Amino acid sequence: MEILVLNSGSSSIKYKLFDISGHEERLLDKGFVERIGDKIKDHREGLNIILDKMDTKIEAVGHRVVHGGNVFKVSTVIDARTIEIIGEFSELAPLHNPPSLLTISESMKILPDIPHVAVFDTSFYQEMPAHAYIYAIPYRLYEQYKIRRYGFHGTSHRYVAGQAAGILKRPISELCIITCHLGNGCSITAVKSGRAIDTSMGFTPLEGLVMGTCSGDIDPAIIPYIMEKENIDVDAAMDLLNKKSGLLGISGISNDMRELIKAKDTDKRARFAIDIFSYRIKKYIGSYTAIMGRVDAVVFTGGIGENQPELMKEICHDVVAHDVKVLIIPTDEELMIARDTYSIVKG
Ligand code: ADP
Repeated sequence: MEILVLNSGSSSIKYKLFDISGHEERLLDKGFVERIGDKIKDHREGLNIILDKMDTKIEAVGHRVVHGGNVFKVSTVIDARTIEIIGEFSELAPLHNPPSLLTISESMKILPDIPHVAVFDTSFYQEMPAHAYIYAIPYRLYEQYKIRRYGFHGTSHRYVAGQAAGILKRPISELCIITCHLGNGCSITAVKSGRAIDTSMGFTPLEGLVMGTCSGDIDPAIIPYIMEKENIDVDAAMDLLNKKSGLLGISGISNDMRELIKAKDTDKRARFAIDIFSYRIKKYIGSYTAIMGRVDAVVFTGGIGENQPELMKEICHDVVAHDVKVLIIPTDEELMIARDTYSIVKG
């Protein structure tokens, strides 16, 4: 079955085309269009550029959707109701859900006779126990506004956890795995028997690990304090935490780990940024080891995780027991989306 996977941002659409069958998975094509809203008029034009290149018969489309809120526990065929609910969660993912919706509605107009499937970053976390997703703030805020831990990057964590079980040649139902997705955004998940039981990203992707430009965990009291001292409003404070913090904020040099590794021997703050980044990951590995009782494997993926084996070894050095496998596994969220699409369409 030829399956097109679409991953839309506000100004870009990435795609991969797969041929999936019961026994084979082949990547036929991949690419992206960018500068939508600038050189390319809108998402419809962007999609047409992608589809025009394909002299193929697409039989289903899989869409990445960042936020499925507390509704979508698994991937689902898209109908009018699905579109409505994704729209409702745009408030919680204003940068991500609206462009996905544009791409979904345009691609359903261009390809109306084939199934379209939504695969959500949040679904993997919908089975987390309540003690992991409820914040210790007045409970009515959860009831009224759905303020809870949602977790993100779920498709990547689910994919690499499955790959790890394959590498270890054991059923995932027997395994306790800690998966670390270290890219621009960074998150870590405790996967027990194939289910996510906790994860570092929260109500938004800002919580948890130190990231390229995001702070991860901080004391919330810092926010009003900065606002007062710097005389800035809440948007500027959030901008500071989302875009000027993390590796960039600490080092003052770059959000790119490659640059920091180059500078670390001569620049103290570059070294400091890497150390704080590593320390935060260690703390989470330690706490996820504690909640699972044991760990069979720690998996690293994402641009940093896949390319810095020495740093990953260093991170694991004093926190991971000797019998725990440390694995580096390239992620493939699009393949996971194609697999879900295939299994849903095949019933
Ligand atoms: P995204 O999270 O946007 O999917 P990636 O997973 O591709 O991004 O990760 C991008 C980040 O990975 C870059 O910002 C950079 O910090 C890091 N990265 C990429 N290649 C390397 C490398 N060879 N060494 C260290 N870090 C790298």
